[in-house]
Amino acid sequence: MIPRDHTKLICDIGELSGLFSDTTSLDGFLQKIVEMISSHMHSEVCSIYIYYENTNELVLRATKGLKPEAIGKVKMKLGEGLTGIALKELRPVSEKYASKTPGYRYFPEIGEEQYESFLAVPIVRGTNRIGAVVIQNSQKNYFSEEDTKVFRAITSQLANTIETAKLLISLNEKSSLPAASVISKDLQYIKGRIGCEGYAFAEAIVHEQSAILALPLYDAGKTRFTLEDFYRAVQSTEQQLEALQQQIEEKLSDVASLIFTAQILMLKDPAFLDVIVDAIKAGSNPPDAVRLVVTQYASMFDGLPNQYMRDKKHDVLDIGNRLLENLVGVLDAQHDLNGKIIISRQLYPSDILKFSSLNVKGIILLSGGVASHLTILAVSLGLPVVFCEEPGLLKIAVGTKIILDADQGNIYINPTKEVIETFKNKEKDREFAAKLKGEIKEKTITRDGTAVDLMANINLLGDLVAARQYKAQGIGLYRTEFPFIVRSDFPSEEEQLSIYTKLVNGMPGKEITFRTLDIGGDKVLSYYDNGNEENPFLGMRSIRFSLRHKDVFAQQIRAILRAGVGANIRIMFPMISSLDEFLEAKDFVQQCVDELKQEGISCHDTPPIGMMVELPSVIEIIDELAQAADFFSIGTNDFIQYMLAVDRTNEKVADFFLPHHPGVLRALSRVAKAAKYHNKDVSVCGLMAHQEKFVPYLLGIGIRKFSIDSRYLYKIQRAVERVDIKTAIVETENILSHKMVRDIESLLK
Ligand code: PEP
Ligand code: MG
Repeated sequence: MIPRDHTKLICDIGELSGLFSDTTSLDGFLQKIVEMISSHMHSEVCSIYIYYENTNELVLRATKGLKPEAIGKVKMKLGEGLTGIALKELRPVSEKYASKTPGYRYFPEIGEEQYESFLAVPIVRGTNRIGAVVIQNSQKNYFSEEDTKVFRAITSQLANTIETAKLLISLNEKSSLPAASVISKDLQYIKGRIGCEGYAFAEAIVHEQSAILALPLYDAGKTRFTLEDFYRAVQSTEQQLEALQQQIEEKLSDVASLIFTAQILMLKDPAFLDVIVDAIKAGSNPPDAVRLVVTQYASMFDGLPNQYMRDKKHDVLDIGNRLLENLVGVLDAQHDLNGKIIISRQLYPSDILKFSSLNVKGIILLSGGVASHLTILAVSLGLPVVFCEEPGLLKIAVGTKIILDADQGNIYINPTKEVIETFKNKEKDREFAAKLKGEIKEKTITRDGTAVDLMANINLLGDLVAARQYKAQGIGLYRTEFPFIVRSDFPSEEEQLSIYTKLVNGMPGKEITFRTLDIGGDKVLSYYDNGNEENPFLGMRSIRFSLRHKDVFAQQIRAILRAGVGANIRIMFPMISSLDEFLEAKDFVQQCVDELKQEGISCHDTPPIGMMVELPSVIEIIDELAQAADFFSIGTNDFIQYMLAVDRTNEKVADFFLPHHPGVLRALSRVAKAAKYHNKDVSVCGLMAHQEKFVPYLLGIGIRKFSIDSRYLYKIQRAVERVDIKTAIVETENILSHKMVRDIESLLK
């Protein structure tokens, strides 16, 4: 068997996005994919079949190794032949002697008779069937199990883009020219709620998900542009998008995925370009032709049944805007997000990633709450966010100047000179504060000499830079779910291994706590059908999901154990509700260790296993859990949500989200006591740990480890240094003796 080095291909999105350079059409793009895969997998044949729901058929669209004349002609029904079976049953099909396999269907016209080794992998987004990729070789028994894993990983990375290619291929042109509405409203100041602290002064733009969007009539003036001008604009647009894709890959290697590639593909789509070219040839001024066709495309996307695909209309409009900019030299302010403050009713995590690469300055969201995961991602990306329920904001005219004071949750619309001046001064203070991070000390010690560990919460690998700068003692919480959220399928063990290894290498020798997958709630996977739960926070979330889907769980645990060789790692389960659940998850880790050892794969075989304290149900059994677990980490975001029945993402009930509720505070104290009694490590990793006012209380109940977003480390170090433990214990006892929320509130003030 030929040794194959797959690591680069699985993990290097850069290599995959390189597929777009020199590609001139959608078919050319698919052809490049098969060539790349066949070269990496050392397979003589690689073919892509696209699935058409209306005819229930798979059609050969690109091949390397089979006869090119067969493209478009070879067709099979879903479930027919090995490829059809792979897609029907949504699993890879691998055969060592294909011709002897029942179900094998041989097409004499494509010249595949000599290829005995056969491996087909479905291209899917969740349960959405997109097509299949097949590799073949004449040598029998050629593909290993490892090859199947790698092949799956590559296919999953490409699924989103192939889905867009498929959509573009099948789109028919329809016409519709709705006008964009831009209405100003006399809003001046709005009090919102802090999502992610920060400040921005920029022009606003409304990013509306539901309405049909269109580029407004573009006033190209009297200038007459030529077809050559248009081609030049296409080329520049392509270069810009490729540069953006590259940038996002460098900045966000763990979650990069092929974010801008849907747009690059559109630019390669002859159906899209030809219509514009035809219109120009028929006499339209190129800017008008672009506007017309882009608008038609956007409304076609808007009419798609699937919300996920429908939202891609923003990609189309973005393309239109870039084309116009490159053509006319002036930006269409209606759809240019660069440097703006975005106002939106609802966003996806991938939107936030994109915004960050598009140099968006801030976000105003009409839904969601301070503890939502969108905010958590925004913190990692340094994007100020304010939540506010004012629907009038959605009608604000593009270009309206806004000051977003996300430190206070204030929004100033068309701010006066005085307000602008005040904020300019604040900005100077902020720059000064940023310099202070150099002064953060290695060790955090209270006034009376008690050592406290300040750990970092990590959401994206990019957070490691700040964690090191702010001298975090280690990683107290690595939220593993973000790479899951932006992909089109569950990341494979190998992909996860590559991400986790980068994390471990980023903090050599330090303690790193991996929190296992915590999806569900407000962290939805576009590719996993959760059956539209009415109450997703009470649904198939977190550890429940992992224990229900042991195959996904196993891949993650194996990847963590493998990445942890020789490192100081710990594994922690989210949302544990009972001792039974904890033990089941813990046993599963042991099972994974045993399996890896049997397979001769090196791994960390004795990582400490702990749990998050997030559910009220564990308080009554906390002693038993403290005996079973190696450590606790208190997730106050969820703990408060579940204890007080307040949806952490619902802006309307944000006033009821009370960390200082006596029920919450007494429960936290019980957890700390149980941990101390059983000599187990306990930390706090929810947002409460970065609020200075709670530092004395948490130290008073015995917490000696905080895990927080790195940007708060300096502030919390100062707060810890001010505390004298004996005094804090007395104050804490006083707080615990109170029964009214309002009394505790004034004590904390
Ligand atoms: C928490 O619930 O407090 C926590 C840290 O986990 P997450 O915010 O990711 O749910
Ligand atoms: Mg939580």
